[in-house]
Amino acid sequence: MISLTILGCDGSHQDAGGAASGYLVRSWASGTSVWMDAGPGTFGNLQRFTDPFQLSAIVLTHEHHDHFSDVEGFITAARWVYGFARDPVPVYAAPGVRGHLTQSIDGILDWHEVGDGDGVDVGDLRLSFSRTHHPPVTLATRLQGPSSALGYSADSGPEWSLSALGPGLDLALCEATYTSDHKGPPIHMSGSEAGSNARLAGARRLVVTHRWPTADAAEVLAEASEAFGGTVEQAAVGRGYSL
Ligand SMILES: [Zn+2]
Repeated sequence: MISLTILGCDGSHQDAGGAASGYLVRSWASGTSVWMDAGPGTFGNLQRFTDPFQLSAIVLTHEHHDHFSDVEGFITAARWVYGFARDPVPVYAAPGVRGHLTQSIDGILDWHEVGDGDGVDVGDLRLSFSRTHHPPVTLATRLQGPSSALGYSADSGPEWSLSALGPGLDLALCEATYTSDHKGPPIHMSGSEAGSNARLAGARRLVVTHRWPTADAAEVLAEASEAFGGTVEQAAVGRGYSL
């Protein structure tokens, strides 16, 4: 069984008291755990659900700060506070992220740059990456477990399809940043675009995330549900899903 726990889901920046993009994915059979995106606020929430220094890997989908900046807190805590005593944690990151870090990662992170079409094994999870429609290189991620698959859009406009992550997604975690009536730049999706994207990819379940704090949550959910043709769930910090 794979589980997904929402550590942060605010779009592009933290809402009041909230957290930007970040997720904990675990494969329970093997004890594998992946911190997928490390937006502001998510390192704190990560510690509510697992020991951050036992992570199997960290995935950073792109260099926008709302997807990686809390890895700085991880490095600081590991180096100065807790006496980090393990092999460096593997990081799989899009190009560009590493250059933003302000601290040395020596002994703490084992950094690997990945790109479109790459795949890596983390425990019994197979991770594969697809470049989305978003200005810096941004990598949607499929996490394939022994018996189920999770697809994460990261950030993307509607020109990229979740089907690029392959068939058989048991759950699609897809960004839905705004409503159709109040669209921003086409490097993100509306609720409607997320819903039709997931439907066309054949996803069994859809969880929408990365909503701008100014976008109406009920409207995003309603238009996503209509376009998906089924029940859609809205990500919220602490919410968990099993697949
Ligand atoms: Zn972005």
